[in-house]
Amino acid sequence: MDQVDVFIFDCDGVIWRGDSLIDGIPDTLEKLRAAGKRLFFVTNNSTKSRKGYKKKFDSLGLSNVPAEEIFSSSFAAAAYLEKTQFAATNKKVYVIGEVGICEELDLIGVPYLGGPADKDSVADMGPGGMLHVDESVGAVVVGFDRHVNYYKIQYAQLCINELGAEFIATNLDAVTHLTDAQEWAGNGSMVGAIKGCTGKEPTVVGKPSPLMIDYMEQKFGFDRSRICMVGDRLDTDVLFGKDNGLKSLLVLSGVTSEEKLLSPDNKIKPDYYAETINDFFSPVPA
Ligand code: PLP
Ligand code: CA
Repeated sequence: MDQVDVFIFDCDGVIWRGDSLIDGIPDTLEKLRAAGKRLFFVTNNSTKSRKGYKKKFDSLGLSNVPAEEIFSSSFAAAAYLEKTQFAATNKKVYVIGEVGICEELDLIGVPYLGGPADKDSVADMGPGGMLHVDESVGAVVVGFDRHVNYYKIQYAQLCINELGAEFIATNLDAVTHLTDAQEWAGNGSMVGAIKGCTGKEPTVVGKPSPLMIDYMEQKFGFDRSRICMVGDRLDTDVLFGKDNGLKSLLVLSGVTSEEKLLSPDNKIKPDYYAETINDFFSPVPA
């Protein structure tokens, strides 16, 4: 605790599981704030915008978390487009994804097509077996999309292969805990479909890519060596910490078991691990 000024918390598996708050979290966050720690929350789930996540924090009784402390991979996609001055190209974005990405693009004034509006568009395949794409598309953003379909994959393929549009992935999570009952195919599957038909690698903007920590550092001026990344996933959260000069803490309240963490097959080792973040304040066993 003495070596850390800033904690960056992953959300699912650390703060909540699906739509249920993990026991003891509000109290732990309050104690960390009382100890003078700065807190941030970074999720790879692109289905909501930062504004959408603020509502989720409020609905879970965490209304004292301000929107400025919340970062999502949907926001990261928009931040990347701003950083690369995409708007100056006057091009549009084709979105595979849900409302979170669209809300973030609206906020930066970048026009887009696709997203939730495209879910029933298979019937739009053009005459003569030609699907026509809007030639002003300059980037394809691929995020988690529960209405992904063949039309969307073909549209993205044409944008990337024929128009030379940039391929951007919000995140590559293989599976997610969309519900507590089982693992569900994550955005890795949607990105995989587009990789499969284009042969191209995307620019990834969510964890473990440095984009969000670079953004935060620029905005808040942190000393990276005094930041601890806390997450439940090795290949996103812990790697995000390790690759970017942060300390890392794995919690076992999400997708990673102690057995998997300690297995000789696992090459991604956090600096610390604990059952949950409530352990910051658990008495040390005698
Ligand atoms: N993507 C989706 C669609 C999810 O449902 C989840 C978790 O529920 C994630 C990504 C991972 O989110 P986080 O980075 O908060 O663990
Ligand atoms: Ca997680």
